[in-house]
Amino acid sequence: MSLETLHKEMSERLKDLVPEVEIRHKAELVHEINQLKAERNAVILGHNYMEPALYHFIPDFAGDSLELSRKAAETDRDIIVFCGVEFMAETAKILSPDKTVLIPSDKAGCSLAESITAADVRALKERFPGVPVVTYVNTYADVKAESDYCCTSGNAARVVEALDSDTVIFLPDEYLAKNVARETGKHIIFPSVVSRAGSEFQTEMDYQMIGWKGRCEVHEQFTVEDIEKIRSQYPDVVILAHPECSPEVTAAADYSGSTSAMIRHVEKTQAPRYLLLTECSMGDNIIAAHPNKEMLRLCSVRCPHMNQITLEDTLNALKYTRYIVEVPEDIRIRAARAVERMSQIG
Ligand code: SF4
Repeated sequence: MSLETLHKEMSERLKDLVPEVEIRHKAELVHEINQLKAERNAVILGHNYMEPALYHFIPDFAGDSLELSRKAAETDRDIIVFCGVEFMAETAKILSPDKTVLIPSDKAGCSLAESITAADVRALKERFPGVPVVTYVNTYADVKAESDYCCTSGNAARVVEALDSDTVIFLPDEYLAKNVARETGKHIIFPSVVSRAGSEFQTEMDYQMIGWKGRCEVHEQFTVEDIEKIRSQYPDVVILAHPECSPEVTAAADYSGSTSAMIRHVEKTQAPRYLLLTECSMGDNIIAAHPNKEMLRLCSVRCPHMNQITLEDTLNALKYTRYIVEVPEDIRIRAARAVERMSQIG
């Protein structure tokens, strides 16, 4: 596609979101990225939280992190550029060990992934021997490698319910764990990592889910008070909350689901207006795709990690083959096993 045609398409799609002067600049970057992508036989993945010009005009696949990694693994491209955060790029590498996986910024971390280490998981396994470990995909590869099963925000309750075990260790998101406990009717505790006398534990082993106090620094900020204030101003708003929000917030919302599930819900329903309690870019991306949908946005709450990924850095990733994401093979194999076990549950 010529630069002029691309510019016209971008202007049409982004006209309600981005001033024209910026669209021209972004169109030039997108044009160069797409040319380089073809030359380097790369596939670009765009997470739902990417900014609209990046999200709508450069990815071969856009969506939730795990589905993107799966789709990239099915391609015959040599390079995967993951426009998302580090744990997502690691997951792409876990599923595509023979491809070069790049992330455009080496500063795109995640508060949730950083809340727990492989040593923490080993300590929990020692303390609760034989209890299966379910780990959210928003973790680093070495944590996945210590786990029996992975899960996504979309299938977490299904994975927990499918296990033939009275007790499950569910890591690392405190709020997702509480939301899953509520959905599955399980009782949850949050033990400290410091070991206590073994005999004392035995008397406490009546719980069904063992959690961890990790949190997403974005979703933990939304409150029931926010919801009440917004409803008093917009009584007809439909509010959607990601399950990384507190259980009080997901209960007060009209709908709770993964990022892709929230997008599908907005696409399939006809409300006067919507509010997504998640990273603000998702609202922009829905407006760009569906200008007839009215989206309220709480854009003072942003993910600083996702926002590290820019068109400029994506271009440089392809130009300079940076930043290469590596996962040691022994860790990759064990992490892939946890992902595969989750896939078998569905
Ligand atoms: S939105 Fe939350 S879970 Fe996602 S990358 Fe940012 S901090 Fe991590």
